[in-house]
Amino acid sequence: MLDLRPDIEFKKELERISGAPLNTCMQCGTCSVVCNLSPDVKPFPRKEMVYAGWGMSDKLIGNPDVWLCHQCGDCSTHCPRGVNPADVLSATRQLTYRKYAMPLFMGKLLGKPGLLPIAILIPVLIIAGIIFAAGTLKIPEGPVNYSLFFPHAWLNASFSVITLLSYLLACFGFGRFWKDMNIHHSGTGPKMGLFRSFWGVKNDIFAHSRFKKCEENSSRKVSHFLVFYGFILLLLVTIFAIYAAITEKYPLALTNPFKIMGNLSSLMLFTGLGIMIYNRIVAKPGSERSTYTDWLLLGSMFLLTASGVIVEMARFLDWSLAYYLYFFHLVCVWFVIIYLPYTKFGHIIYRTIAMTYAFSGRRK
Ligand code: SF4
Ligand code: SF4
Repeated sequence: MLDLRPDIEFKKELERISGAPLNTCMQCGTCSVVCNLSPDVKPFPRKEMVYAGWGMSDKLIGNPDVWLCHQCGDCSTHCPRGVNPADVLSATRQLTYRKYAMPLFMGKLLGKPGLLPIAILIPVLIIAGIIFAAGTLKIPEGPVNYSLFFPHAWLNASFSVITLLSYLLACFGFGRFWKDMNIHHSGTGPKMGLFRSFWGVKNDIFAHSRFKKCEENSSRKVSHFLVFYGFILLLLVTIFAIYAAITEKYPLALTNPFKIMGNLSSLMLFTGLGIMIYNRIVAKPGSERSTYTDWLLLGSMFLLTASGVIVEMARFLDWSLAYYLYFFHLVCVWFVIIYLPYTKFGHIIYRTIAMTYAFSGRRK
């Protein structure tokens, strides 16, 4: 049953994260008019601004429209009261990661800056523990050979199991998200099957076509496209690298096609992330506010890419710090891959679910 009582704590948290003066919204509707992604029926974000102003958490969390927004900032640019609805929707998405995190503490761990040292310490201790258990915890003499210090078979197996566990648990949270959308936002019309609905939005997802409609922040399409495909390429290369390590074909030569693919993915990621960081620090289109969650994702992805390149160079140039750099790279891998469902990176899953939900005709 829908709880319509105002949740003051929720409203305060929304204001704190977004920096938006929620009470100053005068419901003029300009934000919904200028939004090129908003549907004609029950458009957003004006109605979300009412929910936010009243602290109606049930109407905001688990609301598919919050995820149909691609944070272009057009609405914030045109808001006559400077309320920044784009940031309010972004803050709602952040609170969504926390609400559906499974286990719950993972949402807090990655949503609060004060807990960052613990979030770092966990992978550091686990990786060190694996190396210790394998009996290789001693920097080897001679030319750099990562296999002598890092037990690849142990690490690959442990990372795979932990990633699988993390994603399986996260699926319970995604299921709760779907259930809440059904409770609070489900329409009564005909509903399409899930697979057909996903098929209907696949072009929007893979071609990033909805970003094209953004006016204020049009470079988002390029940066998201580069990061999305750069990351997919990197995942493919990582899977091959695991196979190569198992079959003892590791390390790969610089001319190996997978090595070339890996370097290409790094270039794509650097360019995409560079545009994103530039937009946040210098250009600031739509007065987009950058929060801890934004920087955690951008920072961890940037460090993952940079450390990957540096680790490769360190091996070829025989740097004495090579093993420490590799250790740092593994911590970055943990942050981006294993923590994925609990950080802003989880938006690739939440947004896909919400777009599928809306396309299926379930959106009220
Ligand atoms: S957020 Fe701004 S543009 Fe949107 S309804 Fe409120 S005052 Fe108007
Ligand atoms: S940020 Fe862009 S997509 Fe999101 S509600 Fe505002 S105008 Fe629409």
